[in-house]
Amino acid sequence: SLQDKLDKALQNIQGRGKITEINVAETVKEIRRALVDADVNYKVAKDLTKRVQDKALGQNVLTSITPGQLMTKIVHDELVELMGTTQEGINLSDKPTIILIAGLQGSGKTTFSGKLANYLKQKRSKNPLLVACDVYRPAAIDQLTVLADQVGVTIYKEIENKNPVEISQNAIQFAKENKHDVVIIDTAGRLAIDEAMMNEIRNVHQAVKPTETLFVVDAMTGQDAVNTALAFNHVLDYNGVVLTKLDGDTRGGAALTVRSVVHKPIKFISTGEKMEALDLFYPERMADRILGMGDVVSLVERAQEQFDEEEAKKLHKKIAKNEFGFDDFLTQINQIKKMGNMKDLMGMLPGVGKAIKDVDINDDAFKHIEAIIYSMTPEERRKPSVIDMNRKKRIAKGAGRKLEDVNALMKQFEQMSKMMKMMQGPQGKQLMQMMSK
Ligand code: GDP
Repeated sequence: SLQDKLDKALQNIQGRGKITEINVAETVKEIRRALVDADVNYKVAKDLTKRVQDKALGQNVLTSITPGQLMTKIVHDELVELMGTTQEGINLSDKPTIILIAGLQGSGKTTFSGKLANYLKQKRSKNPLLVACDVYRPAAIDQLTVLADQVGVTIYKEIENKNPVEISQNAIQFAKENKHDVVIIDTAGRLAIDEAMMNEIRNVHQAVKPTETLFVVDAMTGQDAVNTALAFNHVLDYNGVVLTKLDGDTRGGAALTVRSVVHKPIKFISTGEKMEALDLFYPERMADRILGMGDVVSLVERAQEQFDEEEAKKLHKKIAKNEFGFDDFLTQINQIKKMGNMKDLMGMLPGVGKAIKDVDINDDAFKHIEAIIYSMTPEERRKPSVIDMNRKKRIAKGAGRKLEDVNALMKQFEQMSKMMKMMQGPQGKQLMQMMSK
């Protein structure tokens, strides 16, 4: 992956006390190769590495005590620059705001439409209407219906109507009559760009005059992503790009190139199949991610979203009174689960992304823990100290797990309780203050 290769290139000079101009040139060449291999457009890669080289030599990387770090910082800053520097939000000023979703079939349009509705409802207090305009694939309409149901928003569809212009116009009328302030139109895509599809989306675009047109592209399609992005932009002159499937084994090239070739901002990134797996695009964070510096800010944000102040107060009291039990542990697990896929979450931790790239982590680990807790009695959950060897054996049997698993969980639980108790003491306060700075 791009991250590995950049890492390797930077290792050339990392940890070296003294480096030469030749070392820099070699590293820069490796970086360029890594970028091109990751499907970054050749010219974009060349320009970027040229700037890196100039900066490196200009900023005295040669005499720096930590040339590796300085070089990493230069590359990081250039990547940020390439991806557009700032976060670009979406314009929701029209009443109703009309958002047209375009892209190839399989790019993740329908999934994104659901996620966007969820995001607008949860975080922007909107009342979105989802519109199914894929008139060719009944399955696509079913899929959107399921998603609408899941996130609790209304869907507009006309099963018999095969005219997407009519459907979207009717949908906007429906939205006005039913107080929907945002209309999200999910359109039909083809497997490849073709004349008919382009005409159709152009017609819808002209008819509904969207506030925002978002182009959805699968980050795994590499250089093709950029070509598709260009073709759609030619027809629609869209406002922004949505990069999907960034959770997979993607080559980061698309994220790096789209902005500089198409001159349109990336607005959202999609990192999984769950409705919550949607993030605003921050160039800074993406650069961190590419360079394996982790994305702690996103992680903390996701944690905060799940944070319920009332619950937290209750929890604090319980910990202070030594009443933290397995039911509370379950609640904690559920909160973590709501934050998204485990592997994604861990990938956001600095240095961890790389380490777990090939490891199969799934959410099943939680299932085993839950099974063990569910096979405890209410008393045992409240007062784990009563769990003796006999009870452990019974619990293991009930959960279909080994005794060792129960022991491991008990141990984990004790450590967690201790740690939480400590966090509430003076040391914990210090730690919290440090972290919030
Ligand atoms: P559409 O044809 O453009 O509407 O694409 P879909 O929304 O149906 O998505 C195609 C497939 O990609 C589905 O199986 C989705 O679950 C999956 N998908 C969409 N977005 C993501 C993502 O961000 N990550 C992963 N891993 N899968 C995704």
